[in-house]
Amino acid sequence: MIQQISINKTLGIGIIGTGTIGQDHIKRCTNFLSGVKVVAVSDIDKKSAQNAISTYGLNAKAYESGDDLIHAKDVDAVIIASSGKTHAKYILSSIKAGKFIFCEKPLATTIEDCQAILDAEQKYGQRLVQVGFMRSYDRRYQELKQIVQSEKLGPILMVHAAHRNRQSSENFMSEMVITDTLIHEIDIFRWILKDEFVSVEMIFPRKTSKAKDILQDPQVAILKTRSGIMVNVELFVNCQYGYDIHCEIVGELGIANLPPPAAVSVSQNGKRYDQLFANWKDWFLEAYNIEIQEFINECLAGKLKGPDAWRGYMATFVANFCIQSQKTHSKIAIPIVKCPVFYSQQ
Ligand code: NAD
Repeated sequence: MIQQISINKTLGIGIIGTGTIGQDHIKRCTNFLSGVKVVAVSDIDKKSAQNAISTYGLNAKAYESGDDLIHAKDVDAVIIASSGKTHAKYILSSIKAGKFIFCEKPLATTIEDCQAILDAEQKYGQRLVQVGFMRSYDRRYQELKQIVQSEKLGPILMVHAAHRNRQSSENFMSEMVITDTLIHEIDIFRWILKDEFVSVEMIFPRKTSKAKDILQDPQVAILKTRSGIMVNVELFVNCQYGYDIHCEIVGELGIANLPPPAAVSVSQNGKRYDQLFANWKDWFLEAYNIEIQEFINECLAGKLKGPDAWRGYMATFVANFCIQSQKTHSKIAIPIVKCPVFYSQQ
């Protein structure tokens, strides 16, 4: 059975992976959110875990291994923010220990590992896993979903989207454009449209000179859904000018556009300009805070409601076919898979 968390208790959180987003979560849990205390950290780089404790003034223990952290008595819930390939083993171990888990995307990097997580959670008999798809906590995406589902736009025909980063890291490879970038659009459009993808074709425009040899940049994903909606996503991870997200949903009766986050507009010397965001942290800051606060509240209430392991499974599933298209330069069919009753009834 799940480890009981008594009412009015502060949730003890253990964070595995104290890199970029792990530290962000430590910061928000420590300085901004309520009902939570970071009691444990762990990273394969032990110095990084120790540094996190001193940088954020945590009264927490640094564990040698993620597994030791998971089994610690004062850890009620685990945030997994280590590299994608390590997620599955930590999730499986946390399920065994009956702990709530917030795992950054991806749920796991292979379908086999995703399946093992679905099997373990169903065997456990209660939802324990949430995946870090923070866009569904962004009120602009929530409004888009509400407009689409209200049928105000009539049947949806097309979605035009773009996901741009100013600059990618040295080791960012072509495949990561799908596993790290497109994966957010795969998930959010399944969520907004309540539809499944049935085909994908990856297209490669002229390559920017700013990308390394290991990276084809930009790329365009052309996805089609079961009901015939075409979703095209421009992925450009070295666009130079800033972090930028576009989304236009075209229906028979109208169009809905994702607004950019409010930023100060400056009028000066006969010009007016808006400040752009440098990175995803700023663009989605509010969404990350709401996402983790709701996770904390739901752990304390004993029932998770956020993006579940099935959403994580489907994102990795569709991403695999996108990678096949990337490798073969061809259009690939994506089979429909049935959602297990355990997840469809949540
Ligand atoms: P990062 O490289 O900055 O940090 C990863 C950390 O994990 C490093 O400190 C590394 O030492 C540690 N680590 C590696 N292997 C480990 C292991 N076996 N056990 C414990 N620690 C280990 O990466 P990041 O940008 O912080 O990304 C971490 C995860 O968060 C990735 O899965 C990434 O896709 C995801 N992420 C999600 C979003 C989002 O928008 N939701 C944004 C950024 C990153």
